[in-house]
Amino acid sequence: MKPAATDAAATASLYEARKKIYPREADGRFQRLRNLAVWVLLGLYYLLPWVPWDGRQSVLFDLPARKFYVFGLVFWPQDFFYLTWLLIILGLSLFFFTALAGRLWCGYACPQTVWTEVFLWIERKIEGNRNKRIKLDRSPWSLAKLARKGTKHAVWVIFALWTGFTFVGFFTPIHQLTGKVLDFTTGPWETFWVLFYSFATWGNAGFMREQVCKYMCPYARFQSAMFDRDTLIIAYDTGRGEPRGARSRSADYRSQGLGDCIDCKACVQVCPTGIDIREGLQYECIACAACIDACDEVMDKMSYPRGLVRYTSQKALEGGQGHVVRPRMMVYGGLLGALMIGFVVSISLRTPVGLDVMRDRNALYRTLPDGSIENVYLVRILNKDTRAHRYLLSATGIPGLELGAGQQRDEPADEETDELEHTGHVPRGAGFEIGAGAVFSVPVRLRVPAGAASGAHDVSFEVVAADAPRLKASRDARFLGP
Ligand code: SF4
Ligand code: SF4
Repeated sequence: MKPAATDAAATASLYEARKKIYPREADGRFQRLRNLAVWVLLGLYYLLPWVPWDGRQSVLFDLPARKFYVFGLVFWPQDFFYLTWLLIILGLSLFFFTALAGRLWCGYACPQTVWTEVFLWIERKIEGNRNKRIKLDRSPWSLAKLARKGTKHAVWVIFALWTGFTFVGFFTPIHQLTGKVLDFTTGPWETFWVLFYSFATWGNAGFMREQVCKYMCPYARFQSAMFDRDTLIIAYDTGRGEPRGARSRSADYRSQGLGDCIDCKACVQVCPTGIDIREGLQYECIACAACIDACDEVMDKMSYPRGLVRYTSQKALEGGQGHVVRPRMMVYGGLLGALMIGFVVSISLRTPVGLDVMRDRNALYRTLPDGSIENVYLVRILNKDTRAHRYLLSATGIPGLELGAGQQRDEPADEETDELEHTGHVPRGAGFEIGAGAVFSVPVRLRVPAGAASGAHDVSFEVVAADAPRLKASRDARFLGP
């Protein structure tokens, strides 16, 4: 027969049941900073899709048309490398700011933190402060409890639906989406994403909260690899605070052998992840600084100096001199600065016109009755600008080179059927009227006089807007002769 203890061990769960956390509201300089971050970030999120720009939505990621509108800029699939560039900048920023000041992102800017703040605020307004919320949860079900819980969830759901609607409004023009929602005519994908994003917001910010940070977020797992002994962390000054213990305000606590910590647990009660910062740096800490505000308030009341819990570094805590400027910061900062400057310069110098040239694969070249040699290409001109332009096409590279253009088409050139209008405008080129955001495809023939080209030659096509010479693009191609 097995001993009872072995049976108990065999049936015991390895998982600790979640204890619901009731964070107390913190008040102080860092909380005000967090409130500001919430206002700015959520303000941008909810208002940007409603801001008009040049007769359209200021920020719109139009996936079906494969165009991203960001204020005056229009990004095409060909501009995809800007997105890669931006992601590298964001990744490096995370390295830089984490090495500088720990989990700044988690504490102030992460969507999970920001939306949880709003959901908590709604909860406090409806269910009351920490003590009232605990009492309400422990009380038996009654009409009053049902009314409070029902109201809270109704407000949460409305807010979550607005969040999901706004999210889809970045991908579908939000005015159109509003009309569809009011008429109940949203498409299946729009409906799915509105509901999915609403559900995710409601679930993550209303219920999961700190569990997302503790169990789901990968960043929490590897962030410590970016820390060094000079990184700013939020820490409790054990040397100053211990031994902790209750005392009266007027007591000479030093003579009682006590440190500055009065063991009030205010720092624990405000913590959104429910940890005790006095136990040292823990991976659950999202660096929200609520415990600094709570402890500073206590220190003020006790007339002790602030900073028992504070931003500091491991080195400083051990009595050393912390350094903000260190080789790692200089490398991260230098790279980040260079990438950001390059990004801004590249965007500002970017010309909103694209040119693609493809050789006709049906024939290498054609010899005309007068002996001249002709090559055929399909030219695509992308007018990425927000205005229509007349574009002039020209080609250079071989003496006596002439260019002829056919009619607009979308398929590769077929020299048997194309009616070519030979322009001979070299170097001024053939002109095409191309609408805003339109792609123009045209078969083009290059012709050289007899004997002017044998074998392969490099030629260069150039397109330039007649009314805006800075809008130009060029593309190299091969001209083949006998
Ligand atoms: S320990 Fe302090 S900084 Fe860390 S999560 Fe808790 S309250 Fe925020
Ligand atoms: S708030 Fe300050 S004084 Fe109170 S328990 Fe925390 S560290 Fe100690």
